Amino acid sequence: MTITLPPVPPALRGKIVLPDDHRYRLLRSTYTVTARPAAVLLPENTEQVVAALAYARERGLPISVRSGGHGLSGRSSNNGGVVIDVSGMNRVELIDRKERLVRVPAGARWAQVAQALAPHGLAISSGDHGNVGAGGLATGGGIGWLVRQYGLTIDHIRAAEVVLADGGVVRADAENEPELLWAVRGAGSGAGIVTAFEIEALALRKVGYAQIVVELDRDGRALRRWAEHIAAAPRELTVAGMLMPHGRSTVGAFTAVVAGANERRLREAVEPLLKLGSGVLDQSAQLAPYSALVSPAHLHANVGQQPVTTTNGLLTAMTGDDAAAIMDVAAGPHRPLVQLRFLGGAANDLPADATAYAHRRHEVMVIGSTFPPQGAAELDASWRPLADRFDGAYIGFESRPDEAAFNRIYPGETGDRVRRAWRRYDPDGVFQALWRSA
Ligand SMILES: Cc1cc2nc3c(=O)[nH]c(=O)nc-3n(C[C@H](O)[C@H](O)[C@H](O)COP(=O)(O)OP(=O)(O)OC[C@H]3O[C@@H](n4cnc5c(N)ncnc54)[C@H](O)[C@@H]3O)c2cc1C
Repeated sequence: MTITLPPVPPALRGKIVLPDDHRYRLLRSTYTVTARPAAVLLPENTEQVVAALAYARERGLPISVRSGGHGLSGRSSNNGGVVIDVSGMNRVELIDRKERLVRVPAGARWAQVAQALAPHGLAISSGDHGNVGAGGLATGGGIGWLVRQYGLTIDHIRAAEVVLADGGVVRADAENEPELLWAVRGAGSGAGIVTAFEIEALALRKVGYAQIVVELDRDGRALRRWAEHIAAAPRELTVAGMLMPHGRSTVGAFTAVVAGANERRLREAVEPLLKLGSGVLDQSAQLAPYSALVSPAHLHANVGQQPVTTTNGLLTAMTGDDAAAIMDVAAGPHRPLVQLRFLGGAANDLPADATAYAHRRHEVMVIGSTFPPQGAAELDASWRPLADRFDGAYIGFESRPDEAAFNRIYPGETGDRVRRAWRRYDPDGVFQALWRSA
């Protein structure tokens, strides 16, 4: 089928990339999916986002919204539709140093945010990768290197500018459209196109950063010790890790980040961790600026280079049986990549109804991924013994945002409220197509 695209409106002149444009090759796809949209629109300000949305809606074409292009579902591109790519809107501004208030345009990548804030002694905890965009991460959650110290990225969003499905532009904050702000903080993908966030940063220059590789016993006892230790540790310690089967044993590669550390505090935080495995295989520790963790070296074009199927689940606490089941999955026949994010601390400071991310009693997130030639079937088969153990899930690490995933990510009352908010701000369901097309 040939799609004929009509004339370009003046506001979008030079901002529409069609398949015969030399820029198309680097814009058509996302990090995880290779796609062939009819057009990629590159608005550089809010007015152009409004024009881009009108252009797509008038033609009845499917719409993808893209900021950094790292969404695991790959739905920030499509085949035959329009991509509204806001990555050109990326100039980070310090609004108020005393209040540590920062304007983060949705198209900024977290490496750019960290670089812009470092000279001011400020940081925003985002995720572990500098190429991820503000728009996708800060409308979903933001579980980053400082999550136990700072909480999620969304916990510090004070205001958002949103282009709604009808083309209206709204500033949502505590006084004006608070329900829209609530939805943006965790369920923003179905509410509209966020053009910018106002986020309260953390005063922070250096962090302590340790990488520890340990052997873990197959029955999960060592893994449980890690979880128990971290749950009781001061919130300045955040740990993430991955499990890698290694012969008949399993290796845990953990990264520990200590907020605002000096050498003594880094040593005090890391030394107990070395005793928690069945044996230390490697270790290193150093002080570094926070911006080194979400480095500009991560920045790259997204050309579908990392096909992957990912899912995740949240545990309120890791029992011995949970730990044993996680170890079994990591070492099981399909050997999915199993990653762990230890939560708690500031991630659980807010009440469950404060944002659309409701999982405020949870201590551990378990993420599973399969890579080609393995796919969804192998991931589901591996994940089955774990699935019933979870109580909730996180949108950021879900490749298949279908109804079942919605119910895990936005359970009960939260889900009802998200649906109401989406209906109110997007009655035609323009942006919720993301969930339906699964
Ligand atoms: C390598 C990698 C590492 C990651 N690490 C972390 C991590 O440490 N912590 C964490 O929390 N998450 C992490 N994630 C998940 C990441 O937060 C989500 O995939 C996020 O959606 C990516 O944002 P993006 O802007 O780059 O994605 P995009 O692909 O641009 O967008 C993804 C989806 O978000 C929505 N969206 C995008 N922009 C907007 C906007 N401006 N307004 C409204 N909706 C929008 C759209 O529905 C879109 O389909 C990681 C992902 C990858 C691939």
